[in-house]
Amino acid sequence: MIHPPDRPSRLGAGGDNAIAFAIGIAADEWTLVILRHALQDGVRRFHHWQQILPISTAVLTSRLRRLQELGILTPVEYDRNPVRHEYHLTPRGAAMWPMMVAIWAWEVRWAEGHPEDLPAMRHLTCGNLFTPLMACRTCGEAVSPREVTGSFGPSGSWPRSAPNTTMRRRSSGSSNLGPGFYPESRALIGNRWSAAMLGAAYLGAHRFSEFQRRLGAPATVIADRLRTFTRLGVLEAFGDADRADRHQYRLTDKGRAFFPVVMAAIEWGQRWFIAPEGPAVVFHHRGADHAFSVLLLCSACSQPLKGREMAVV
Ligand SMILES: [Zn+2]
Ligand SMILES: [Zn+2]
Repeated sequence: MIHPPDRPSRLGAGGDNAIAFAIGIAADEWTLVILRHALQDGVRRFHHWQQILPISTAVLTSRLRRLQELGILTPVEYDRNPVRHEYHLTPRGAAMWPMMVAIWAWEVRWAEGHPEDLPAMRHLTCGNLFTPLMACRTCGEAVSPREVTGSFGPSGSWPRSAPNTTMRRRSSGSSNLGPGFYPESRALIGNRWSAAMLGAAYLGAHRFSEFQRRLGAPATVIADRLRTFTRLGVLEAFGDADRADRHQYRLTDKGRAFFPVVMAAIEWGQRWFIAPEGPAVVFHHRGADHAFSVLLLCSACSQPLKGREMAVV
């Protein structure tokens, strides 16, 4: 399926939902890095990505092709002799900036082991360096992740929220180990089970058995992911009041701080990939009588951020 660049895709009934598409894109680190340079630095040409990234011709070619299929980039001829194309962000691609800004902010604040320093960002409207703050688009108030509740909508379920086998195959294999620019984000959303585990934690799972029941994953997978998330400091284990020999797991500040990344990714997915049954997940602003959708504010001036009004320093 080729996805249109300027209007939402109509998905088939019963198939992958918006979350699966969003995870399928966000899980591939090369794709994120290519998009980061397109969105933040205006990179459009093949050789320019190759100059700034340790990426092979084959990997860059395959990612650019995939991004064209997804309607995120579109080729534009810039030379006729010989014919050469550059790759412009479409409206669908340009709309990915909140997710990229949210990943950048979380990696800067919380992640370790970056091979290069991440740049600071300036809000051009107020002139200050900023980080994004999450707010409720409906009422405009800044909110913490604890103030947002979510539940599956009509097209939501764990199986439909995992990228399909085609996308998984494309995003596996040694060529896809990635450059290590987003090592911890990758550990959190780099494959279907990790992303689902994180989603289950946000939806309120605490016990091993709850993660297992919600995901339907093998016990070894659940145990492995709980270990990884605990090691990264995204979840912390504490004693289970009912069972002295068992642990429960809760999100840490670092884990909750990743929530805007997930929200921005899901929101982009649900804006551009429409399932006939309805949304995959619905969010509410807890304590308020309305739906929640994410709005990013400038930490310096509290005004809503817009994609064209920020620059890398
Ligand atoms: Zn609200
Ligand atoms: Zn500002």
